[in-house]
Amino acid sequence: MTAFLPQSIQKLIEEFSRLPGVGPKSAQRLAMHLLRTPKMRVQSLADAIGGLQNGLRFCNTCWNIAEGELCGICGDPVRKREQICVVEDILDVMALEKTSEYHGTYHVLHGVLSPVDGIGPEQLKIDALIQRIRGLEGFPGTIEIILATNPSLEGETTAMYLLRLLKPMDVRVTRIARGLPAGGDLDYADELTLSRALQGRAEYA
Ligand SMILES: [Zn+2]
Repeated sequence: MTAFLPQSIQKLIEEFSRLPGVGPKSAQRLAMHLLRTPKMRVQSLADAIGGLQNGLRFCNTCWNIAEGELCGICGDPVRKREQICVVEDILDVMALEKTSEYHGTYHVLHGVLSPVDGIGPEQLKIDALIQRIRGLEGFPGTIEIILATNPSLEGETTAMYLLRLLKPMDVRVTRIARGLPAGGDLDYADELTLSRALQGRAEYA
């Protein structure tokens, strides 16, 4: 149906159609829109897309997304290194950062324990967390590990597993409060709920 169009536009429509939530009709509309957009803006969009995966990597310390060896949070000298908030994924970091309530650092597990899906501790960044804690200045004295996995079955299982590993290390372990809807996702919670969950965190045992 688009065979009469120049190759370059056909190709663009084809690429747009592969994006989530974009049907053939919207793909055509997007392509036509870009045809009418000033060249500079189109170039800027192309650069943003082209550069997306270039130079992006995971933070050496916390496994958040980063441009260099350290993410923006680990690289910030003001953030408290002895306070580590353990989350399931990068979206959770974004959600917690939006509250402006937290001034520590994070550790991104990149998933949760889920035997049904064959996800065990080796698939998560758990070893990296333990090594990181051992290497912290002042270990184990003033260190607080905040377990902020989701209040789902897998999230609770993961928190319990981590507690078993952390307890013998003599660090303080807390769990964010239950204000979050059970089975819910951290990154869907509103900022106020998240702030309260963080403030209301309690010793985990
Ligand atoms: Zn980091």
